[in-house]
Amino acid sequence: MLVALAAGALAGCADPGATASRHPSASMTVPRPVVFTPTPDPDPQAAPAVTRAQVVARYGHLSPHYWGFGAPGVLRHAPAAGRVIALTFDACGGPGGSGYDQALIDFLRRRQVPATLFLNSRWIDANPAAFHLLAAEPLFEIGNHGTRHRPLSVTGRSAYGIPGTRSAGEVYDEVAGNQAKLTRLLGRPPRFFRSGTAYCDDIAARIVTDMGVRVVTFSVNGDGGATFTPAQVSSPVAAAGAGSLVIGHMNPPEGGTARGIAAAVPILLARGYRFVRLSDQSR
Ligand SMILES: [Zn+2]
Repeated sequence: MLVALAAGALAGCADPGATASRHPSASMTVPRPVVFTPTPDPDPQAAPAVTRAQVVARYGHLSPHYWGFGAPGVLRHAPAAGRVIALTFDACGGPGGSGYDQALIDFLRRRQVPATLFLNSRWIDANPAAFHLLAAEPLFEIGNHGTRHRPLSVTGRSAYGIPGTRSAGEVYDEVAGNQAKLTRLLGRPPRFFRSGTAYCDDIAARIVTDMGVRVVTFSVNGDGGATFTPAQVSSPVAAAGAGSLVIGHMNPPEGGTARGIAAAVPILLARGYRFVRLSDQSR
């Protein structure tokens, strides 16, 4: 049983099925100056956009028609305009997923590279000191990576062997549990949610939108669920184009993500790209 749990947790961090979006034709023209400003925070005192009972009543009888990374309404590209790239890193939590890639975070700090960090509830519980440091840094935006790290399904569909949520109510629970924790810890609700494995069906995506949170997937698979070597990481990330949304992982310190990102970021900076958090919008 323990072996099965451990294997499942590792698979839960894997997103190997994604396609890498490459933009090799990126030109070398000088980018126009862009100023980034975060969008205003939602009112932390506001009542939840929707209750569990309302979600069950609205969506409990609906059948999904889509399963994957591209459900209608999900965010797959950096929202800011221009020559920008959004780096995102998941911390999956649970057995095998609650480590902390200090080298990756130190690199981002040293180079002042903004990023959005999707944290699972179990990872936060296992890393309270690291969480508080990350949450206090404006360089990083904190997103919701679920309560139990489940693929987001209303019918129990699985991804990489990880069983998904089984109903509209369980979709609500998977999002709301960690959303409440993060709202309490941050003093404001996270704006973005990425499910465990990043899989989501179209009904689940509508539910999360109703909850006032944006579902995020990705356009560039940066580390293959933290399975890539440094070279396998740097290759697709360095080839990312304008508007790319890169997924990587920050929980396995022994992976190739930190060295791969450290190799790719200078290349992208030299090509005139800038890095944004998901809340950063150009003006
Ligand atoms: Zn994950």
